[in-house]
Amino acid sequence: MNRFAAEMSEHREELVALDTAIGDGDHGTNMDRGMRKAVEKLSASEQPDAGTALKTVAMALISSVGGAAGPLYGTLFLQMGTALSGHTEIQVSDYAQAWRQGLEGVVARGKAQLGDKTMVDALTPGVEALEAAPDLDGGLRAAAQAAEQGMTSTIALIARKGRASYLGERSQDHQDPGATSTYYLFKSAAEALAG
Ligand code: ADP
Ligand code: MG
Repeated sequence: MNRFAAEMSEHREELVALDTAIGDGDHGTNMDRGMRKAVEKLSASEQPDAGTALKTVAMALISSVGGAAGPLYGTLFLQMGTALSGHTEIQVSDYAQAWRQGLEGVVARGKAQLGDKTMVDALTPGVEALEAAPDLDGGLRAAAQAAEQGMTSTIALIARKGRASYLGERSQDHQDPGATSTYYLFKSAAEALAG
């Protein structure tokens, strides 16, 4: 989460530029603000296990970020936190299962399917790569790679959900901002684990 917050700060302008092209230009500032708040909350109180920490991040995002991404990332982390409730150690299968539950939460909330040009297009291949992985280290590196491909795949897509869908065909040839921040999320996890 610290790594992801740093990444959101570092890539804020890039995410703003992507969202300016097909949305309202706030994705970078939304994610940066939300993750700043999240790490502030994380360090302000005891986090006895992974589930508690993830739920803390979720609540910070939901309460500090307006727009689509705040509640969607909030749902992702809330569902992951529920899956990892009480876990102080995480096996790769539990971890993959938590991401799967998070993805299902995002889909239940946002109703986006694969190919709708949203964060789901990076999240889905990332989760699938983790599920196929024998160990966490290789799994996270594979997930980051798969999410990056998913992110790039959004360029060719026409948006069917979120603000970008108002543009119809004019949303094509632009990379989805939410899929981009989701790639950074997997990349952050892989880098954090690698130390
Ligand atoms: P807003 O669109 O409200 O300005 P953001 O700019 O922070 O919120 O986030 C936009 C991103 O949210 C999009 O790039 C897309 O990836 C994601 N998104 C929008 N609507 C949905 C949805 N219904 N399901 C999944 N993701 C969505
Ligand atoms: Mg926006």
